[in-house]
Amino acid sequence: MALIVQKFGGSSVADAASIKRVAKRVVETKKAGHDVVVVVSAMGDTTDELIDLAQEVTPLPPVREMDILLTAGERISMSLLAMAITTLGVEAKSFTGQQAGVITDEVYGKARIIDVSPSRIKDTIARGEVAIVAGFQGVNPSTNDVTTLGRGGSDTTAVALAASLKADVCEIFTDVDGVFTADPRIVPTARKIGRIGYDAMLEMAASGAKVLGLRCVEYARRYEVPVHVRSSFSTHTGTLVTDQEDPSMEQPIISGVAHDRSEAKITVVGVPDVPGKAARLFEIVAEAGVNIDMIVQNVSAAATGLTDISFTLPATDGATATAALTADQPAIGFESLQYDDTIGKLSLVGAGMRSHPGVSAKLFAALSEANVNIEMISTSEIRISVVTRADQLDDAVRAVHTAFELDDTETEAVVYGGTGR
Ligand code: ADP
Ligand code: ASP
Ligand code: MG
Repeated sequence: MALIVQKFGGSSVADAASIKRVAKRVVETKKAGHDVVVVVSAMGDTTDELIDLAQEVTPLPPVREMDILLTAGERISMSLLAMAITTLGVEAKSFTGQQAGVITDEVYGKARIIDVSPSRIKDTIARGEVAIVAGFQGVNPSTNDVTTLGRGGSDTTAVALAASLKADVCEIFTDVDGVFTADPRIVPTARKIGRIGYDAMLEMAASGAKVLGLRCVEYARRYEVPVHVRSSFSTHTGTLVTDQEDPSMEQPIISGVAHDRSEAKITVVGVPDVPGKAARLFEIVAEAGVNIDMIVQNVSAAATGLTDISFTLPATDGATATAALTADQPAIGFESLQYDDTIGKLSLVGAGMRSHPGVSAKLFAALSEANVNIEMISTSEIRISVVTRADQLDDAVRAVHTAFELDDTETEAVVYGGTGR
């Protein structure tokens, strides 16, 4: 008998029929003799729809109210799932993040979990019942306000609960059969990865492979929670995310190709090329609470002593960063700002690349053959990322996937549900 945390994403609980299907699956696990704790996301695209609704009311909604609004999504799915499970003859109770003891810091919209004290969940398990927890939310003890963990945050809730409850495994149920060498929505020949280490998965998640959230993988690595990513629409074995070596497998050079369409690029034109200007510029962006990703500084023009600095950031932070920089324009003395949200980012990830020369050369050759222009480049030990035009990104991903011989020539990857939103 094991303790299993099962998380079901939005596409797995998109409507009443899906909720009943998930309930059956939970009951099967319970009847097999296991203890089950379930974490749910909001139904379908509910979170996006709530964000759209708020935007219709005001372009800059207060962050506290935004979190209260968004946590409503998971409350709907958790209670409906509890009803569906109870109907099948197994006792089930749903809990909000706060009731489940998910304690966070005070940063609305992207709160971090600082503690999990799931006494009510433990009591529920002890009574032989199924506990269902709303993903993506917690409570800040100093304000007593509910907070949300950032998009995709239900994955983090599941792993955090699994760590706290010392669960045997955390199963992430989604609308594809596991983690693939690329997003199956773009690359139908993508190959399912049987097993992947935390570091490579972390880079994939950080590079946009939203099948697992970044914070979730960080948490899983820190507490060594084995994560099994699989489909709620099939019974196939999925992908095991773990650091435990599989002796029958050699470490692959390349794990996969990730893509990200959620970033934008700001170019600060005509920055005086003297010490301290770049520092000030990025201080302003940081003070505005914006995380930046890639940075490129051009060679300065000798005649003017001015240079251009470009950086990428989440497009959702574009307005905030632009406003903060514009407010400080006289002090920094730059000429103008350019904002571009039609960029895409492609990342090639692989733990084996640190010991293999020629990976960058092969990547650039594949992009050039596909006629894709590279605008920015950044690298880490196990990742190479490039910025391209957004409308060339899909072609770029397919070309690179093929160049690195990742295509599965036998089976096509299945996308069972979801809208890809
Ligand atoms: P959920 O609603 O279950 O949380 P998400 O939409 O957050 O599901 O994540 C699943 C989606 O992630 C898949 O439908 C797929 O389009 C996308 N995805 C992106 N990269 C990958 C990848 N490398 N492997 C599998 N899925 C990926
Ligand atoms: N419902 C939230 C979102 O759409 C959290 C999640 O699904 O993980 O981002
Ligand atoms: Mg998700």
